[in-house]
Amino acid sequence: MGKATGFKEFARETIPYDAPEARIKHYNEFTLPVQVEHLQNQGARCMDCGIPFCQSDTGCPVDNLIPEWNDLVYNDRWQEAIDRLHKTNNFPEFTGRVCPAPCEGSCVLGSVEPAVTIKNIENAIINRAFEEGWVKANPPTQRTGKKIAVVGSGPAGLAAAAELNQYGHTVTVYERADRVGGLLMYGIPNMKLEKESVVMRRIKLLEEEGITFKTGVEVGVNLPATQLISENDAVLLACGATKPRDLPISGRELNGVYFAMEFLKANTKSLLDSNLKDGNYISAKDKNVIVIGGGDTGTDCIGTSVRHGAKKVVNFELMPQPPIDRASNNPWPQWPLILRTDYGHQEATAVFGQDPRTYCVLSKRFIGDGSGNVTGIETIEVEWITEDNGRRTFKEVEGSEKIWEADLVFLAMGFLGPEETIAKELDMDTDARSNFAAEHGAFRTSVKKVYAAGDCRRGQSLIVWGINEGRGAAEAINGDLNANS
Ligand SMILES: Cc1cc2nc3c(=O)[nH]c(=O)nc-3n(C[C@H](O)[C@H](O)[C@H](O)COP(=O)(O)OP(=O)(O)OC[C@H]3O[C@@H](n4cnc5c(N)ncnc54)[C@H](O)[C@@H]3O)c2cc1C
Ligand code: SF4
Repeated sequence: MGKATGFKEFARETIPYDAPEARIKHYNEFTLPVQVEHLQNQGARCMDCGIPFCQSDTGCPVDNLIPEWNDLVYNDRWQEAIDRLHKTNNFPEFTGRVCPAPCEGSCVLGSVEPAVTIKNIENAIINRAFEEGWVKANPPTQRTGKKIAVVGSGPAGLAAAAELNQYGHTVTVYERADRVGGLLMYGIPNMKLEKESVVMRRIKLLEEEGITFKTGVEVGVNLPATQLISENDAVLLACGATKPRDLPISGRELNGVYFAMEFLKANTKSLLDSNLKDGNYISAKDKNVIVIGGGDTGTDCIGTSVRHGAKKVVNFELMPQPPIDRASNNPWPQWPLILRTDYGHQEATAVFGQDPRTYCVLSKRFIGDGSGNVTGIETIEVEWITEDNGRRTFKEVEGSEKIWEADLVFLAMGFLGPEETIAKELDMDTDARSNFAAEHGAFRTSVKKVYAAGDCRRGQSLIVWGINEGRGAAEAINGDLNANS
């Protein structure tokens, strides 16, 4: 334990962001630099708990050795800290930047005081390690002669590829997009996770370690999945949950109504291809934007629209506003279901003078201009009720209909599992939620030699769970290959 009295001496202080008015002028990351003492003091707040709940079932999904590296940071032993961090997490530069940090929700200190700033410390360790040149490609010294194909290059596919390569297998990652990274590349915007300096930096290291990436290959479309199976010793499906939930109300076909991912992907691609000069993106400039649905996807649509110079941004939430503090039925160490004001909300508030979120709103129909373009949405308020069996439902509030002006609507209402192409081609079992059926731990699908991990197996989730599943699937595949050889 770093400092016995650290948690009494130092208050929680997160790494600050640049002011919203300044950061909305660009698409770069916007955390401000801090002195090393800041990080040491925050590390000193860790109590090195006998039972570190930050690493428990409700805490970090990759079992990061959090108290150990908190202590190492406090003691200015950064190189040992990165060695400990890399033991459990292949990509701390991704989670350190954009993980919602379930570890902090479970931190024991958080039950009485604000939690340790675990995520900031993680990010500082990996940033320092790259600056110092401590993160280097580490190719395996021997090859096993086994070939493995990974389909999809998001965090699950990348973590699996990294681990399988370390076991000595020859790994090829197939990605249908023109760039590698899955949602790390074409989902999460550049201002949250920089593509060239952060995502590609790691991809290049993986290439140097011997992993082959093939982009522009859609397995099941321009490369049969059966061919991959016959040419490899194992195939891992890590294709994500890419089917967006639709809103099939009247007027859905109008121009100007898009899935959130159409907007976000085009923006990042155009930004990377031409710094938005090619015009191949959906511009929100001077438009009334309505984002339907919250979560990370909704927030990213808000942040991107604000950067375009939208006239106004409104965000509809069907659910009621969460409480400021934990409710009595949501005690520590559960994930706190509280109101969180993310970067996009802060930015919209700074520009438009009010929080863009409006709660308990149900969209009834899109309104058009008679020429096929959306001009508005009619909504009604809803009231949430808890039934006797504990189930929550809502009823519409009579007379609360409202028309909202809209030139652009982004649907950010979640995802409904992976696309069916590969499952159909292989006649592979899916579960009740249409994900690829495979048990966590074994990761085997119903098709011989084929495994599944990440969002295509567990449903839409988090980067850290993608890393957990990718690492787990690699271990399972390696175990099966060894058992069979
Ligand atoms: C807008 C947005 C913001 C998010 N923000 C956060 C955040 O801040 N923090 C966080 O922890 N999580 C966030 N998430 C969730 C997180 O990104 C995902 O949970 C995670 O990326 C899932 O990893 P994955 O590897 O399973 O799949 P993905 O990252 O979805 O990668 C799957 C890849 O497979 C490819 N693919 C699909 N089918 C095929 C095929 N047939 N052939 C070849 N390639 C194929 C896809 O093109 C894609 O590149 C966000 C999600 C979205 C949509
Ligand atoms: S639960 Fe919090 S205080 Fe305890 S070891 Fe983990 S980070 Fe430190």
